Amino acid sequence: MTLDTSIEYIKGIGPEKAKLIKNVLGIATVEDFLTFYPIRYLDKNKVYTISQLQENNLDIQLKGKITHVQEIQTGKIKRLTAKFNDETGAMDLVWFQYSKWLKEQLPINREIFIFGKVNLFNKQFSMAHPEIEIEEKKESDNRLRPIYPSSEKLTKRGLNQKFFQTILRNICKEIPALIEENLPDYMMKSFKFLSRQKTYLNIHFPKNLDYFETANNRLKFEESFFFQLGFGLKKLHHKTQSFGNPFPIVGDYFTSFYNDHLPFELTNAQKRVLKEIRQDMKKPIQMNRLLQGDVGSGKTMVALLTMLIALDNGFQSCIMAPTEILAQQHYNGIKDLLNEIGINVRLLTGSTKASARKIIHEELENGSLSMLVGTHALLEDKVKFKNLGLAIIDEQHRFGVAQRAKLWAKNKIPPHILVMTATPIPRTLAMSFYSDLDVSVIDEMPVGRKPIITAHRREKDRVFVYNFCRDEIRKGRQIYFVYPLIEESETLDYKNLMEGLEHVMQSFSDYNVAMLHGKMKPDEKDTAMNYFASGQAQIMVATTVIEVGVNVPNASVMVIESAERFGLSQLHQLRGRVGRGAEQSYCILMTSDKLSAESRTRIKTMTETNDGFKISEVDMQLRGPGDILGTQQSGVVDFKRLDLVKDAAIIKNTKNVVEKILEADPLLSRAENQVIKNYYLKYYKGKNKWSKIS
Ligand code: ADP
Ligand code: MG
Repeated sequence: MTLDTSIEYIKGIGPEKAKLIKNVLGIATVEDFLTFYPIRYLDKNKVYTISQLQENNLDIQLKGKITHVQEIQTGKIKRLTAKFNDETGAMDLVWFQYSKWLKEQLPINREIFIFGKVNLFNKQFSMAHPEIEIEEKKESDNRLRPIYPSSEKLTKRGLNQKFFQTILRNICKEIPALIEENLPDYMMKSFKFLSRQKTYLNIHFPKNLDYFETANNRLKFEESFFFQLGFGLKKLHHKTQSFGNPFPIVGDYFTSFYNDHLPFELTNAQKRVLKEIRQDMKKPIQMNRLLQGDVGSGKTMVALLTMLIALDNGFQSCIMAPTEILAQQHYNGIKDLLNEIGINVRLLTGSTKASARKIIHEELENGSLSMLVGTHALLEDKVKFKNLGLAIIDEQHRFGVAQRAKLWAKNKIPPHILVMTATPIPRTLAMSFYSDLDVSVIDEMPVGRKPIITAHRREKDRVFVYNFCRDEIRKGRQIYFVYPLIEESETLDYKNLMEGLEHVMQSFSDYNVAMLHGKMKPDEKDTAMNYFASGQAQIMVATTVIEVGVNVPNASVMVIESAERFGLSQLHQLRGRVGRGAEQSYCILMTSDKLSAESRTRIKTMTETNDGFKISEVDMQLRGPGDILGTQQSGVVDFKRLDLVKDAAIIKNTKNVVEKILEADPLLSRAENQVIKNYYLKYYKGKNKWSKIS
């Protein structure tokens, strides 16, 4: 037996069962089985009584007697039922598929143990396809019985817990020949790990709970360690191998803008981040940096200043945003700010007219265009730069890896890359999935911002909410009403939006209302956005198209309709559309009366904190890391033991360990590190290609 041996050759499996297991559980090899970890352990000494049963769906052990067996036929379908009694009560056992043998051999009136999941239906407990043990329990070392993730389908076909336990026991006998150590002695000692062989043994058949803990911790450590090692090696490789254009100077463009045209004083955090970026770009190595900052922390200004440095060094730069509205807005903002310095900036999106496109293409190639703002349209092959020195990606999670990689290829020597987040990324995700990037954090808001006041309101409060909005408008402020339009094609949502619009127009008939949704044509969107941004419209009724990045500082109230239908990061993004000026801003979360527990947590989190870093942590607890990373990266969170929500300490620890090892031995050439290197090369190399961010 080797790790690669197909499971059909394992004693007790055979081709037919192997096929079933593979289809349902995805287990094909001995190795797959070894890493098919129990979901929990049943204490064999723990025997429940029927009267103790409370919870549905719990795997338990009961001791009692079968008193009565009956076959029931309904139409063509037969099932076998049995009455099971213990001293405290009775319940039914049910088999939907069974052999004649089982029917005849069920032990009646004998003391037995049964294992299985209990179902609660009509206040009655029952157990389907229980496992039955007749013999008195043999005392053994391991009183913890592993429970594997299984399914009804498998149980029905005889692949029950007992089956898995037997198979795993057979495999575990071979562990000495199967499992090699992958951590060096010095680590084993300093972390007091079990050997790798003992780890696997104790994961499947733990001697006791302490052994399980130790084994489990080692598995988590291993997963995190080799994952981090991969990123560490990549980052190192990047730093030594990938050349970039050095930007040695800060010249006239930057200086004159900074001294004469900066509309506000930068926050200390912005200054610090700018310095970090500047240090990177000085070097003849490509920058690969992630800029994290909460909504409204002023990432755009950092981006613009970075672009000016590129220009001072004779290079073109571009900034790519995920939506037309946002690209348009960046463009307007940048153009305004740079107006007096005379820098050629242009906008390229999917709706840019052919004639304008032609000019852009020409100017890009002859070098007379210094800065290009745009959407995915920037990625097209026709878009060629003379000398692209810097590419900035706003709201990076909206773009796929391949798209980002396309930007790299836009220059012979790859441009410096700055990716910016929409909202903060949970700490453990930043530490793991982005650990091949250098990270800068803007952890401070511009001065004078008043924290947004967030309130939860229901339908019955609507009159008050509208009155409040009216007061704000009278003070000269503007209001957003946002409706869920999760899938822009959902007709029901669309209807809600239209009704909402009508209602708002009626209720605020003395004011101008703009409307924005995803189905509108780009120039219609533009018009609507301008109508609101210029202050002509006091109210904007919109869908989540305004979620990302939209900046109208005079807007001070954000009313989110059906707020329970939005995710946390979306709510936080939407709220971030207000509170952008010096005025006190408000976010009102309108919901129905009945809320699920999860919605309640989301709403409560929103009303309790404005801190995007905290919100992202709650969000990850609710949704799990896969969703947070975004569809573009989902499917990459395939840790088996490591939990990105709960194991922050382990992740942090392994990150430090990896950093130390690579600092002392970047090529892993020392004798004591060979064991790591060999294992890494064999099992991990090339596995996490997707992580390459740009
Ligand atoms: P985000 O980080 O969410 O992209 P923006 O870059 O859109 O945030 O900035 C939000 C608002 O704050 C903008 O109106 C911007 O002009 C303003 N702003 C940025 N930096 C400062 C600062 N240092 N002082 C005052 N206002 C600032
Ligand atoms: Mg932004």
